[in-house]
Amino acid sequence: MMTTAAEAADRWAGFQAEERVNRIREAIARCCAACGRRPEGIRLLAATKTVPAWIVNQVIDAGVGDIGENRSNELLEKYEDYHRDKCRIHFIGSLQTNKVRQVVGRASMIQSVNSLHLAGEIQRQCEKKDQAMDVLLEINIGREESKSGMRPEELEEALYKINQFQRLRVKGLMAIPPAAVSDKEKEKYFYDMNQIFVDIKSKSIDNIHMDCLSMGMSGDYLLAIKHGSNMIRLGTALFGAR
Ligand SMILES: *Cc1c(COP(=O)(O)O)cnc(C)c1O
Repeated sequence: MMTTAAEAADRWAGFQAEERVNRIREAIARCCAACGRRPEGIRLLAATKTVPAWIVNQVIDAGVGDIGENRSNELLEKYEDYHRDKCRIHFIGSLQTNKVRQVVGRASMIQSVNSLHLAGEIQRQCEKKDQAMDVLLEINIGREESKSGMRPEELEEALYKINQFQRLRVKGLMAIPPAAVSDKEKEKYFYDMNQIFVDIKSKSIDNIHMDCLSMGMSGDYLLAIKHGSNMIRLGTALFGAR
C-alpha cells in the first residue's frame, strides 16, 4: 500500500480509467467472437486490493458495475468512499469467520465460501442483520494443499447442507487455478470447472441457482472465457501492477 498522499498521487498520475476499461472490453469482444459467445454475457469485476477508492471510482464511473475486495479491513476503510449507487461490492478474498460480520451488510456477494463452517457463520450474521447473502462456492480445482476451497467431489453434498442455511442464496462457483502452470494446463482446469458447473446446474437442486461461474484473472481471463467463465476478476489488467 502507498504510504503518503503524495506517493499515491504519483502512482496514479495519468491513470486513464475509460481507456483501460475500453481496451479490456475490446479484448473480451474479440475473444467472444472467436469462441462464439456473447460479450454481454461476461461480467467484468474490478479486483481492487491496494487500489485507493478514488481510482476505483473512476473505473466504476467508466461502467464497471462490480468490484471485488479481498480483505475485510480494506473493505471497511474504502466502503464509505465508493460510488455505491453505481456498483455492487463482492468479497473475493479468503474470509476468516471472525471477520464475516464486517462483510455482511457491506458486500452484496461473497465469492469465497470455502467451507460449511464459513457458510454457517454467514448464516448467523445474516440472521442477526435480518438479511440474505448471495454466495459463490470456491472450488479448489487444482487440489492444492496450500489453497482453501472445496474439492470437486465434496461439492454436491456441500450444496445440500448449505441449503439448510436459509439466508444464503447460492449463485454459482468461483475458482482460482494453480498459478505457475502452462496455458494448456490452465485450460484444463478451466475446462474441468465448466464441466462441474454445467453438471451441478443440470441437477437443478432446490434453491441452488448456478448462474455465475467466476474464474479468470489478468493473466488468464481470455482462456477462462473460452471455457465458459461468465465473470472475470481483473486487478493488474485494469489498474497496473501492484
Ligand atoms: C487479486 C485477485 C484477483 C485479480 O488478480 P490480477 O492477477 O491482478 O488480475 C482476482 N481474484 C482474486 C480472488 C484476487 O485476490
